[in-house]
Amino acid sequence: MKGFAMLKIGATGWVEKEIPQCGPMDAICRPIALAPCTSDIHTVWAGAIGDRKDMILGHEAVGEVVEVGSLVRDFKAGDRVLVSAITPDWNSLQAQNGYAMHSGGMLAGWKFSNFKDGVFSEYFHVNDADGNLAHLPEGMDLGAACMLSDMVPTGFHGAELADIDFGDNVAVIGIGPVGLMSVAAAAIRGAANIYAVGSRKICADLALEFGATDIINYRQGNIVDQIMEKTHGEGVDKVIVAGGDNDTFARAMTILKPGGIIGNVNYLGEGESISIPRVQWGCGMGHKTLRGGLMPGGRRRSQMLARLIQTGRIHPERLITHTFHGLEGVEQALMLMKDKPRDLIKPLVLID
Ligand code: NDP
Ligand code: ZN
Repeated sequence: MKGFAMLKIGATGWVEKEIPQCGPMDAICRPIALAPCTSDIHTVWAGAIGDRKDMILGHEAVGEVVEVGSLVRDFKAGDRVLVSAITPDWNSLQAQNGYAMHSGGMLAGWKFSNFKDGVFSEYFHVNDADGNLAHLPEGMDLGAACMLSDMVPTGFHGAELADIDFGDNVAVIGIGPVGLMSVAAAAIRGAANIYAVGSRKICADLALEFGATDIINYRQGNIVDQIMEKTHGEGVDKVIVAGGDNDTFARAMTILKPGGIIGNVNYLGEGESISIPRVQWGCGMGHKTLRGGLMPGGRRRSQMLARLIQTGRIHPERLITHTFHGLEGVEQALMLMKDKPRDLIKPLVLID
């Protein structure tokens, strides 16, 4: 089979590999929709998880099951499925401890395009198929379904990590596809003011439709000044970080009220450390919490979030600004994600 791979840090290309083997609890799928992720960019061009040789990229897919193992109960060949980007081992101790995404070690529930070949391929392997696949709901838009792999669950995890409560004033730093879903999640959880930080107009417009009350353009002034002014010097109750650089935490800590929480889902691709400003952290006594997390994966989460699409509460298909056809399209889609033209939110590849 052919797949589009990271050849080494900084280099991508097409590779030929054997079709993966199906273990007793596994499934082999072929993709019917795919999307590249900003994480693929960090992985290849920043070398954020270290070097990989000829590793097939991609972790966002809708698939069709081609084969299942003898112990798989709920899926069979021909089923169309939602595929979670994070595919934990659900019988691991880490999963029993509530952190399935770290099953097998820190971040090790993230297997596609990290510990094994990803989904930008004619076929891909899914471990623990009953735990990690979900049936594609009848009639669901394939773009929306593909966003259930990663963009929706990650954006929503930002809101979970920040523990958004009704009435909270919230800043969402970064409104690419992930941050836009965090805006939607914060609105659903009852946030009052949502200050959405970004500069691409197309993202700002969608943020307002998804529930943001104010757009803060970080290129037109310091976000701390802009948000402090809007909150009359009070700051915000919660911050979701879905973009920015290593200095973003200093800004987030500064705009956060005592007792507040920062929920980070941004993948810090570069640098040795981040700095937290001492005084703004209350000299260590400000009750300001910083949490960061890999999104939880798995079937139940896919099903719960799919309901929000089915009931019209969220519209992740609106993230898709560019559509390609055929597996070959992943190469161009990935390069778009790398270059981030200003009319891009998220590309989609349909395997017709
Ligand atoms: P994008 O690059 O599309 O969006 C990033 C956002 O951050 C944009 O709105 C951008 O603004 C904004 N931004 C950039 N620099 C700054 C800055 N200095 N200050 C404030 N805002 C800034 O990324 P995605 O939405 O695709 O992904 C977001 C992050 O989430 C990535 O790091 C990705 O790897 C990570 N991720 C994490 C996952 C997890 O499980 N935790 C899973 C999936 C992704 P603009 O472009 O408008 O100028
Ligand atoms: Zn991703």
